Amino acid sequence: MTTSVSAPALLHAGDPAYAAAVAPFVTTLTPRPAAVVAARSPGDVVDAVRWAGAEGRPVTVQATGHQLLSDLGGSVLVSTRELDDVRIDPATRTAVVGGGAQWHQVIAAAAPHGLAPVCGSSSKVGVVGFCLGGGHGPLSRAFGTGADQVRRVRVVTADGTERDVDADREPDLFAALLGGKTGFGVVTEIEIALHPVTRLYGGGIFFPGEASPQLLHAWREWAGTLPVETSSSIALLRLPPDPALPPPLQGAFVTHLRFAHLGAASDGAALLAPMRAVAEPIADMVDEMPFAAIDAIHADPTEPMPIWDDSATLSALPAEAVDALLAVAGPGVETPLVMAELRQMGGAIARRPDREHDAVAGRDAAFHLYALAPMFPPMAAVAPAAARSVVDALRPWTVGGLPNFQGPAAGGRLGVLWDQETLAWLTGVREQYDPTGMFRTVGLR
Ligand SMILES: Cc1cc2nc3c(=O)[nH]c(=O)nc-3n(C[C@H](O)[C@H](O)[C@H](O)COP(=O)(O)OP(=O)(O)OC[C@H]3O[C@@H](n4cnc5c(N)ncnc54)[C@H](O)[C@@H]3O)c2cc1C
Repeated sequence: MTTSVSAPALLHAGDPAYAAAVAPFVTTLTPRPAAVVAARSPGDVVDAVRWAGAEGRPVTVQATGHQLLSDLGGSVLVSTRELDDVRIDPATRTAVVGGGAQWHQVIAAAAPHGLAPVCGSSSKVGVVGFCLGGGHGPLSRAFGTGADQVRRVRVVTADGTERDVDADREPDLFAALLGGKTGFGVVTEIEIALHPVTRLYGGGIFFPGEASPQLLHAWREWAGTLPVETSSSIALLRLPPDPALPPPLQGAFVTHLRFAHLGAASDGAALLAPMRAVAEPIADMVDEMPFAAIDAIHADPTEPMPIWDDSATLSALPAEAVDALLAVAGPGVETPLVMAELRQMGGAIARRPDREHDAVAGRDAAFHLYALAPMFPPMAAVAPAAARSVVDALRPWTVGGLPNFQGPAAGGRLGVLWDQETLAWLTGVREQYDPTGMFRTVGLR
C-alpha cells in the first residue's frame, strides 16, 4: 500500500510543551522520548506513525502516564492526552471516547443520562489504557472487565492506517487489543458499553492497623459470601503525615476496607454488618453515594508521585496466606510499604467472551494482591525489595498477574501474564500488524 507521509509537529527536550506532554502521573521513571507528537486529532496520530515508519523510528504511546514501564528512550512518543472527546448515546447506552480521555470525563458525561462506565478505583486513569489491560473496578464483578465493555476500537496500526475494528471487522486484532495491552497500535477512539447505575451503597472504612489480623481473617471468609453486585477490597495502609488527611489518619497505620454494593442501601448495610462488627472503626465512610463519587471508595492518590509496585493474582486466600501477608505487612512490621492490598475478583470477571481467543489475563483468579512503596529517598533503596517481599510471601497462592498492575518491576516478564497458547496468538497478531516491531512492547519482544 502507498501512503503519503506528512511530517508531524515534533516536540523536543527543552521545549516546555515537550515537558508537559511527557509528564507522567507515576514519576518513578523520567520519560526521555527522542521526540513527542502531542496529537490533537486522529490525523496527527496517522502522520506521526507514517513518519516514524518512514524514518524507521520506534513509537510509544502515553495518555496520563499512570503506567510507565520504561523511559521511552529513543522513541517517538504519541501523546494522546488531548484526544479527550466523550460522546454519550443514551439510546444504545454507549460512550464513544477519545484515545486520551480519562474516566472522570466519561463519568461526568454519562451521569446526566443515568449511566455509568466500568471504571477502576481512580477516575484519573485513562480509559484506553485501562480497557486494553483488562481493567478491574468496583463494578467488574457485576458487569465484567473494562475490556468486556468495549464494542469498537479505532486504531492506527504500524502501516499508518486508521482501522475501525470490532467483533466483525478484523476480529483478531479487536480481540487482541482487549487485554493484550500493548504493541498493536495507537488507539484514537474507543466505544464502550455503559450501565444504568446512578448510585451505590459504598465507600471505605478505616480501622486501626492493629486490628488487621482479625479484619483480614474475617474478610477472606466474608468476601466469598458476597453476591456479584457487591465488591470489596482491603488494604493495610501506612499513611503519610499529610495535613490534607483527617487528623486521626495522619501518619497512621490503618486497615482500609473498601465496599461497593449496587443494590438497596439496606441490603448493602446488611451485607457489610459482619465486617463492621469486627473492630471499632476510626472512620466509617460507607453510605449511599452517587456513582460519580466512586473515587471515594479506594481514595487513591490524586497527585503525581514516584512509586514502586509489585502484584500478583491469587488462586485462593486461605488463613495461611493471610498470616503470610501479616508477617510482611502487618502490625509491628517495620516496612516502607504504603499499601498492601487485596481485591476480590470473581463474578462476571470470570466470564469469557464468546469468541475464539480471549486476551484478558487472570479471569480465573480469586483475588488480586498489590504492594506499593514510595520511591522517595531514603525509602527508594528498599522499596523494590519491600514490594517484592509481599508477593514472595504469598507465592504458594500466586497464579499470574494483571497487565494493568505491572510497574517497572515487571521488567522483562510481561509475557508471563498469559498462558502459552494465548501469548503465542498475541505475538502472531502483533507480528501481523506490526512486522517490524515499531510499537515497543516492554517485556514482550
Ligand atoms: C492510582 C492508580 C489507580 C489504578 N486503579 C486501577 C484499577 O482500579 N483497575 C485497573 O485495572 N487498573 C488500575 N490502575 C492501572 C491502570 O489501569 C493502568 O496503569 C493503565 O495502563 C493506565 O492507563 P493510562 O492511559 O492512564 O496510562 P498511560 O501510562 O498513559 O498508558 C499506559 C499504557 O496504556 C497503553 N495506552 C494508553 N493509551 C493508549 C492509546 N491511546 N493507544 C494505545 N495504547 C494506549 C499503552 O501501552 C501505555 O503504555 C491504576 C493505576 C493507578 C496509578
